[in-house]
Amino acid sequence: MNPVQNIRDLIAAKRDGEHHSEADLRWLAQAAADPAGHHVELYQLAAWLMAAYLHPLTEEETANLTLGMAASGERLDLSALPHPWIDKHSTGGIGDKTSIALLPILASAGLTVVKMSGRGLGLTGGTVDKLASIPGFRVDLSPEEMVEQASRIGIALTGQTPNLAPADKTLYALRDTTETVASIPLIVSSILSKKIAGGAEILGLDVKCGSGAFMQTLDEARQLAHWLLRIAKRCGLKAHATLTDMDQPLGRCAGNALEVSEGLQTLQPNRPLSRFGELVIYLAAETLHAVGRTPDIESGKKVALELVTRGAAQAKAKEWIAAQGGDARVIDDAGLLPRAPVVVEVQVGTGGWVERVDAATVGRTVLDLGGGRQVANDPIDPSVGVETLILVGDKVSPGQTAFRIHAASTLDAQDASEALLTGLTVSAAPVAPRPVVLETL
Ligand code: URA
Repeated sequence: MNPVQNIRDLIAAKRDGEHHSEADLRWLAQAAADPAGHHVELYQLAAWLMAAYLHPLTEEETANLTLGMAASGERLDLSALPHPWIDKHSTGGIGDKTSIALLPILASAGLTVVKMSGRGLGLTGGTVDKLASIPGFRVDLSPEEMVEQASRIGIALTGQTPNLAPADKTLYALRDTTETVASIPLIVSSILSKKIAGGAEILGLDVKCGSGAFMQTLDEARQLAHWLLRIAKRCGLKAHATLTDMDQPLGRCAGNALEVSEGLQTLQPNRPLSRFGELVIYLAAETLHAVGRTPDIESGKKVALELVTRGAAQAKAKEWIAAQGGDARVIDDAGLLPRAPVVVEVQVGTGGWVERVDAATVGRTVLDLGGGRQVANDPIDPSVGVETLILVGDKVSPGQTAFRIHAASTLDAQDASEALLTGLTVSAAPVAPRPVVLETL
């Protein structure tokens, strides 16, 4: 059959629930990357997206769209670098600074870590914004600089380059404004096309589940993870996935500079492992196992912990920050990071056991403090944020500090303290906390 190379035919076919061929989807991806060059209007792509939302793509179609989108622009060529080439992806959440601690551990184990990270939008923060709060740290490395740096020190991270999977840039912006984001095949093709174009060979997926995540229930998160794994396999990308908790914020800090500080502290030798640190070590262990460095995840955890306790991971983080122009002294002196002028503590009203510290409420509060963006080009304040000093399951007494707010003004801090208390529930009976690692697939 001749490929359809007309957007109206493609829209009609998907509207009627028909199957697209590989050539159809390759053409569609190219048209999304360059609409004018293909005589396609954005409203036509939006109509196709709604048809694909209502008649979800099959796995075969999703794999073909993914490959088409990955090929719609440049692809990072990592062939000069030692194998394995590692990337990771988190579906995003509140306080998720995992990459800042995880990537140096993996690079200190001798793996090549090359990562493109996104900026934050809405409730979920972006790694690029977090790292940009380190004075001087560059998040605009060119593909050549990425490869050069990774060959020298084994680790490089940059913001998304416009030429990488440009089809996703168009389609994602349209999905965002046409209520067509929440389609698993469209989410999967969006995530994986960028990872394939970024040159990854082995991808670790951290699929978040809970109030502060895209996927609120375990079933939804599991479904997304299974789709990601199956489509990755069809596209020739080796991937592994873990479902992790996002009902309460991840770690103590939410907010850009605060998260950098917490992420780097996790690499301090001999520091007791926090709940966040536990997740970092687990994800590192999973990757070490996936690349064949350890026979199982348990021994991977020992290797990862050893890299931290003998200071190798922290030394790699120093090298990384310095290589990207940042002030590596922030590792030993968090005071060099941007600091908010107003710091206010919020206390627990009644004693008992913490039942809920709602991640979405903490995320929204950080956003309202100025730590995130409502729309794509909003400026952000790197210094503001919230420290959550209690965990679900903790026994607390009246007057105990639950949150520490870092704000630009007293008024902002007052609003934040009222908001945060709406997300806190204390129970009269003991509460069993949900583990940070929920399931490995
Ligand atoms: N992240 C992406 O990159 N794409 C989506 O569609 C959703 C989350």
